[in-house]
Amino acid sequence: MRHRIAVVGSGPAGLAFARVLHRHGCAVVVLERDPAPDARPPGGMLDLHEGLGQLALDKAGLLAEFRALSRPEGQAMRILDVDGAVLRDWQPRPDDRANPEIDRGQLRDLLLGPLDVQWGRSVTHVVPGGRDGALVHFTDGGYETFDLVVGADGAWSETRPAVSSVMPHYTGVTLVETSLDDVDTRHPDLARLVGDGSMAVYGVNRALVAQRNSGGHVKVYAQFRASLDWHAHLDLVDAEAVRSSLLDLFDGWAAPVLDLLRQGTAFVHRPLYVLPVSHTWTHTPGVTLLGDAAHLMPPLGAGANLAMLEGAELAEAIAGDPDDLDAVVRAFEKQMWARAGRWAKLTAAGLERLVSPDPAEALALFDQVQPS
Ligand SMILES: Cc1cc2nc3c(=O)[nH]c(=O)nc-3n(C[C@H](O)[C@H](O)[C@H](O)COP(=O)(O)OP(=O)(O)OC[C@H]3O[C@@H](n4cnc5c(N)ncnc54)[C@H](O)[C@@H]3O)c2cc1C
Repeated sequence: MRHRIAVVGSGPAGLAFARVLHRHGCAVVVLERDPAPDARPPGGMLDLHEGLGQLALDKAGLLAEFRALSRPEGQAMRILDVDGAVLRDWQPRPDDRANPEIDRGQLRDLLLGPLDVQWGRSVTHVVPGGRDGALVHFTDGGYETFDLVVGADGAWSETRPAVSSVMPHYTGVTLVETSLDDVDTRHPDLARLVGDGSMAVYGVNRALVAQRNSGGHVKVYAQFRASLDWHAHLDLVDAEAVRSSLLDLFDGWAAPVLDLLRQGTAFVHRPLYVLPVSHTWTHTPGVTLLGDAAHLMPPLGAGANLAMLEGAELAEAIAGDPDDLDAVVRAFEKQMWARAGRWAKLTAAGLERLVSPDPAEALALFDQVQPS
């Protein structure tokens, strides 16, 4: 391929894009800010849907390897009320492969495979240059020109301003994440409470979700409606102070549920930001966006799936018609905007119902989406 193509970011979007191009024998430069693949903890599990993330892996020739690594039993979902009574307990059928879970680290390594990522290359901004492509600037003062720069650099994308002036806004919901290691031996009661997949408790404007990861690790997400400065009088690096403030917020909930917070090791503060539903931009030759950079939405199981499918689809389209790069990107954007817009609406409405003044709304939502 004669075009010089760069993708900024080696998350699910950037890696799916690069891996599918690689499969088709097309060169791509992957620019990643992190100094190494394991520079940061990779995060929790991702459930990859059959028609989205799994389709992307199929396009990358990686579906069989995904099936070997993923945890179909992780599709189990249990819902409790705040007194600890089990309201729902869905177990997947043995052959159910609709949304199996995979550790983010395993997915990253699977997608990385033979790719040659340029680690430690942090992009500061991208300047589109009309029909001549775009200039990528780096934190070390250097720059490089490419025919196409694909911004897959996540929520706070440095590529996005090249095409759109829109910034993410706060949803009003904050998530504080904690985790437990070695649950089966160290916390067998909590291991049973969480089960093989996820367990969730919905209260008034609050939720607590725990999810089993591989290797006996459990991630716990405390979610609540709060202003952005809710922690103004709290030192967020003081784990005991955060724990005690969360225990106050969830006061009165069943003891075994609160034990998930009492036993959690460290606390990570994640206010949830989103881009406006149906975020689009004026097509700009030489630059486009994928994944969270294009359509950051609430974390309700769609973001990584869409990111990967978009990466795979854009790569396939480029490999299939390498002569008119700009026309390929223009057609891809239309398709991405339409699909992402539908999911952004669904996930925004979902967040309203899951962290809501009426906990019955959360249960009703699950009754609609869970297979009976
Ligand atoms: C708690 C939580 C749970 C979630 N669960 C799910 C789930 O189950 N299923 C699902 O589909 N989605 C889930 N999501 C959403 C999902 O994590 C994101 O939608 C997905 O990671 C987006 O992928 P991406 O590649 O677009 O961006 P990212 O994953 O954010 O990757 C961006 C990459 O770009 C790099 N980068 C950033 N800036 C620069 C720069 N200036 N220069 C170079 N590199 C840069 C970053 O280091 C990173 O590697 C969840 C999100 C959260 C917060």
